[in-house]
Amino acid sequence: MKAFDVIVIGAGPSGSACASLCSELGQRVLLLEASRFPRDKVCGDCLNPAAWPVLERLSVAERVRILPSSSPEKIRFSVASAGSAEILLPQSNTNTSELVVRRRDLDELLVSHAVEAGVLFQDGSPVTGLRKISGEWEVTTSTGDHHLGKLIVAADGRNSVTARHLGMHTSRRSKGRIGLQIHIPHPAGYDGALEMRIYRHGYGGLADLGNRLANLCLVANDGEMKELRKEAEIHYGLTSACAWRSITPISRARARHVAREGVFLCGDAARIVEPFTGEGISFALRSGALLADILNMAKSGSSKVLASQEKLYRRGHRDLYRGGLLVNRLTCLLSEHPKVAHALSPFLLKHPKLLSFLTSKVISICYIALHCF
Ligand SMILES: Cc1cc2nc3c(=O)[nH]c(=O)nc-3n(C[C@H](O)[C@H](O)[C@H](O)COP(=O)(O)OP(=O)(O)OC[C@H]3O[C@@H](n4cnc5c(N)ncnc54)[C@H](O)[C@@H]3O)c2cc1C
Repeated sequence: MKAFDVIVIGAGPSGSACASLCSELGQRVLLLEASRFPRDKVCGDCLNPAAWPVLERLSVAERVRILPSSSPEKIRFSVASAGSAEILLPQSNTNTSELVVRRRDLDELLVSHAVEAGVLFQDGSPVTGLRKISGEWEVTTSTGDHHLGKLIVAADGRNSVTARHLGMHTSRRSKGRIGLQIHIPHPAGYDGALEMRIYRHGYGGLADLGNRLANLCLVANDGEMKELRKEAEIHYGLTSACAWRSITPISRARARHVAREGVFLCGDAARIVEPFTGEGISFALRSGALLADILNMAKSGSSKVLASQEKLYRRGHRDLYRGGLLVNRLTCLLSEHPKVAHALSPFLLKHPKLLSFLTSKVISICYIALHCF
């Protein structure tokens, strides 16, 4: 059985970022991933500008910029049978604007960087069990491997096995919603704008991936997805034979504990944000970086040091999300009530300045300070 300072479970943006930054400072890090890489993922593929400081810090920003991608110049908001409005997106000449990049490419790049930084990466290794042995964590995978880690980073996404296994999520049930996603050739006449559409049965987004491909995502309440899918297929001229990927839940109460007994949750495992505003990847990267900063402060592993690391992370994690999610929460509320959303949205279309203001609250070109301890 091999021993590590940190075992990271899940190689999405939060896990890879945290693993790289811990390894760069000399920690022995194992990154365990359930899927075989490269892999696609249900996501809108939109990278919020707030992600750039972490990508710069990881020294991968230039490599991200040369991936097949697009930098949309405008967002088109539309409401089924009520018209549309277009908002220009802030552009910058410092390469820090919104980017649409396929998750398969982005996540593969982040993992490659982690491996270059010294992380031991094992894909095709779903974690199936965790137990504490003499103050350390034994992690078991479905491949029958056992690993020992002083600390565990659970970055295993919205359905975190780790959080569930250790009772770190709340038992409160989230509203049953589902997300679908597909990559499609550009629909006829598509101009590359980021499209957000309120349908009768839910919402959807279309984003240009820059190589004649677009990402189409849909979100609806459980019982309404069939109708939403039909609406979207008609709107974009798709056949009903398309191979959609699906994911659930779309929202969940934040984790009851983000840090406990040497296990730290980050990214979606700790807190999910509503997909509509395209902020999940940037929060995942930022929470991964925040956690690495705290784990790198001390390697002593004494219970006193661990307690102060857990306390710092709880506080830092709360501050990371505080205040920045007003628009996100609003869209979550509306998306759980599609009839209300559909009734209110035409008002927004008539007030493009308000739309523009709300958009600027989500997509603004600024370097958000990273947490440094
Ligand atoms: C429909 C939809 C659209 C979205 N669109 C956007 C968008 O446009 N922009 C945006 O920023 N965000 C978007 N998001 C949110 C975004 O996808 C997530 O916030 C982001 O992926 C979180 O990253 P993460 O690293 O925390 O987790 P993930 O990216 O979910 O990665 C978790 C990893 O853990 C692995 N894993 C799971 N279980 C185990 C296990 N037992 N053992 C080992 N590994 C395991 C998984 O295979 C996965 O690779 C969207 C979400 C949805 C549902």
